[in-house]
Amino acid sequence: MARVRLENITKRYGEETAVDGISLEVEDGEFVTFVGPSGCGKSTTMETVAGLTRPTEGRVYIGDDDVTDLAPKDRGVAMVFQNIALFPHMDVYENISFGLRLRKYDDEEVRRRVEQAADIVQLEDMLERMPAEMSGGQQQRVGIARAIVRNPDVFLMDEPLANLDAKLRVHMRTELQRLHRELDATVIYVTHDQAEAMTMSNRIAVLNDGTLQQIAPPLVCYNEPTNLFVAGFIGSPSMNFADGTLTEDGLETNNFTVALDATQVPGVTVGDDVTLGIRPEDVYLTRDADSLAAPTATITARSDVLEPMGDEMFVYLLLSERADSSMEQDPSTSSDQLLMSVSPDTAIEAGQELELVLDRSKIHLFETETSDALVHGVTDLSQRESGTTPTEADS
Ligand code: ADP
Repeated sequence: MARVRLENITKRYGEETAVDGISLEVEDGEFVTFVGPSGCGKSTTMETVAGLTRPTEGRVYIGDDDVTDLAPKDRGVAMVFQNIALFPHMDVYENISFGLRLRKYDDEEVRRRVEQAADIVQLEDMLERMPAEMSGGQQQRVGIARAIVRNPDVFLMDEPLANLDAKLRVHMRTELQRLHRELDATVIYVTHDQAEAMTMSNRIAVLNDGTLQQIAPPLVCYNEPTNLFVAGFIGSPSMNFADGTLTEDGLETNNFTVALDATQVPGVTVGDDVTLGIRPEDVYLTRDADSLAAPTATITARSDVLEPMGDEMFVYLLLSERADSSMEQDPSTSSDQLLMSVSPDTAIEAGQELELVLDRSKIHLFETETSDALVHGVTDLSQRESGTTPTEADS
């Protein structure tokens, strides 16, 4: 296995920049997922590792070798794609062994490797099946076994589960994790599905518009997103955002104020535009918030739409009285709405007046203009207690 290093990779197609100066390193044996919306440059970046695309600028290293100018077959990588394209007239054994036989491996070595790979992907009883006799998930496992027998330094997987139904996709996620553990393999995985990225990876690289936004373990991206894009992309349903302004009293949004000492928020001052972020699970009904160590002041809202999901319930809240009483107010502006997730047996009806608090330790603040994160958690940014002087607070 080997580590992979991208150094300032840029790929331009004519006027369009598909990948814009991406640098990152995937450690030996690490599972790193490139995630981001369609068109953000995930596949192009991976293709520069595979050798299918030559970067306009930048270098690609596998192990200690600069492979930028090497052909795909000389890079020690194996790829698994969304469309696995098995040979329909060959059985599983022949499909898995095709590449080895092409390279004239002796029969015994071929059999040893195929059996080992089939064992890993749990196809050992299906080696004589034809592709037409297999489910989508089983065919996908043949594709993975075909990559395993090549004994690559690096596995490259581009949306390998995208064609599978939802249940099978979840099952294959666990299989890929097990595979990664058993092979101790370096894996670069591409997906637009943030849940897939969160569950499988050691680290995820969040891309947007051809640029790397954040590369970090899944829970770091979730709990400490580096900017508004990552905050909104990672997590489902998405984080709530409310635009506001820092004042002497705290962060004032259209509908509520979170008391905090603006002088303690790094990088901004009173008068600056700051966006508050809070995840649906960090919004509480005041009556359920007894255990919360650091709640905000009460916010009043009205429940709009309820979505029972079985294990939890999503409650869409309208924060603004004006939302339906003033023609000038657009009720769909994000600052006037808030999504809360509660236990499914919570007694709430649509249209009910509710009192809420936010968990201060889970409030994120972003500089609105740059979208960069300022702080995660505002528990320590409480308004100055009497007796605390500004000098003390500043020092
Ligand atoms: P993703 O995998 O994140 O969906 P891609 O890496 O496939 O994104 O594409 C990134 C951008 O580059 C897109 O805007 C896409 O249209 C463009 N692009 C990709 N391949 C080509 C190509 N061969 N020619 C022109 N533009 C391309």
